[in-house]
Amino acid sequence: MSGAAALSQDAILDGKATPSAPIAGKGFAMSVDVEDYFQVWAFSGVISRESWDGFSARVGASTRKCLDLFDAHGAKATFFTLGWVAERDRGLIREIVSRGHEIASHGYDHTKVDRQTRDDFAADVRKTKAMLEDISGVEVKGYRAAGFSISAKTPWAYDVLAEAGHAYSSSSHPIAHDHYGDAGAERNAHYPIAGARFIEAPVATAEFLGKRVSAAGGGWFRAAPLSLSRALIKRAAQNLNGPAVFYFHPWEIDPGQPRIRRAPLKSKLRHYLNLNHMQKKLGHILSAHEWTRIDEALGLGKQS
Ligand SMILES: [Zn+2]
Repeated sequence: MSGAAALSQDAILDGKATPSAPIAGKGFAMSVDVEDYFQVWAFSGVISRESWDGFSARVGASTRKCLDLFDAHGAKATFFTLGWVAERDRGLIREIVSRGHEIASHGYDHTKVDRQTRDDFAADVRKTKAMLEDISGVEVKGYRAAGFSISAKTPWAYDVLAEAGHAYSSSSHPIAHDHYGDAGAERNAHYPIAGARFIEAPVATAEFLGKRVSAAGGGWFRAAPLSLSRALIKRAAQNLNGPAVFYFHPWEIDPGQPRIRRAPLKSKLRHYLNLNHMQKKLGHILSAHEWTRIDEALGLGKQS
């Protein structure tokens, strides 16, 4: 065992260990970012938050499709949910929990962390956690930042999450991308705060043709052939410390969603790419491995 691997939790808590001590746990962790098709970051330039209530909600129906898909494959998942969605569809939150999944926070209204002050972020984190716990009746341990927006630009973000009582975050997509990501960031699950048990579990990445690429979801997954996606997910699970974390959105299995015609062309190409095939492709991925909730994959135990 290497020196780093031999570090005990006690040493970490004493602040004697490096924050990069490996996290126990392998395997495959599934996650869903519960937001509606008109709330995605790529459309935020043409759809204001103030106008959201004018759209007819589809996220309840499409999230229930996710629940049925997971049931059909015996999969469990973590649902990172916007507070805005939760307060309008409380039954959905309870259904996610009653069907055996983890409810977690995606912040209140999808504002990126690096667009907020530390105080504004702390208020958003606490408000959303309390709301989700009040509705679900269970402790909310996980957090995912809108647009994977925790980075070197937000050095206070993990402290804020830990102080609010979150046990982990899955807010890093360590790849090169024009909207998010940092190709130099840590790929493995790790402890970002020295002396604390708080975990960051980045979504999955793998090496491919000498480059670091995403092995998680989003447009990458919908664009790639199934065989390549399967190989990358398998490679991520083999090579990463901690689970291979996959993610997708309910709107990705809702090909009938209304089209946002005034959105920029590049955003439209990405958002609408292969929506017709997504559910089938997801089915293949779900059958190929045993998928669990992130809290369980990280050894944190089920929420109660
Ligand atoms: Zn999101």
